[in-house]
Amino acid sequence: MNIVVFVGPPGSGKGSVASYIENNDDSFRQLSTGHLLRKEIKSNSELGNMINKSILDGNLVSDDIVSTLISNQITEFGSSVKSVILDGYPRTVEQAELLEKYIKKTGLILKNVIEFKINDGLIISRLEKRVSCSSCGAVFHLENNPPSVKDVCDYCGSTPLVVRSDDQPDVIRQRLKGHHDKSSLLISYYQEKGLLSFVDASQNLSYVRSEVCKLLNVNICK
Ligand code: AMP
Repeated sequence: MNIVVFVGPPGSGKGSVASYIENNDDSFRQLSTGHLLRKEIKSNSELGNMINKSILDGNLVSDDIVSTLISNQITEFGSSVKSVILDGYPRTVEQAELLEKYIKKTGLILKNVIEFKINDGLIISRLEKRVSCSSCGAVFHLENNPPSVKDVCDYCGSTPLVVRSDDQPDVIRQRLKGHHDKSSLLISYYQEKGLLSFVDASQNLSYVRSEVCKLLNVNICK
């Protein structure tokens, strides 16, 4: 199984591009840590309540929890899945090291790491108009990438689409601060390993999708 890592701030389009690829190429699966964590919160477990607090404070969830959820999900995908796009993991050098160990242990291949580059001003305006499907985790933007039918998820048909509680301006600012503190080290880590490429994520979604498709050598993007 190949692993592809998307690195970038919240609102940079990682999730939108990953779900587009998953829905148009059977050999890819999207693995969004944010979505996995929100699923755990919805289950109302004790673990879910702990996770909820970290997310609402704009903080990262502990490495132990996130890496366990990731490895469980990869195992669940099984050998029929050819490529997994990690959307939102790793977010720190410590997580990248945990991933590297896991990859070595399980014989996976880290194929690409793609950085989604974008400035903060644009992110805040994007996140303020972002709605998500609480069932499958798909994300939409009310102006730039609206669902085909108002308030209905294009991918799983669930309704309504909701504004995530951590997409409120104060939490967004805290999330971005946390992101910048950690991501430059993560980017350097992958740069030094010669694995990093980037896309200009300030461009429109179809441009970003097609640039990512070129990097991944897939022919599904118009
Ligand atoms: P996202 O949907 O990727 O924006 O993630 C939403 C929230 O989930 C983040 O703000 C973090 O609190 C948490 N989260 C997602 N991915 C990770 C990760 N790799 N490590 C720790 N916390 C994470």
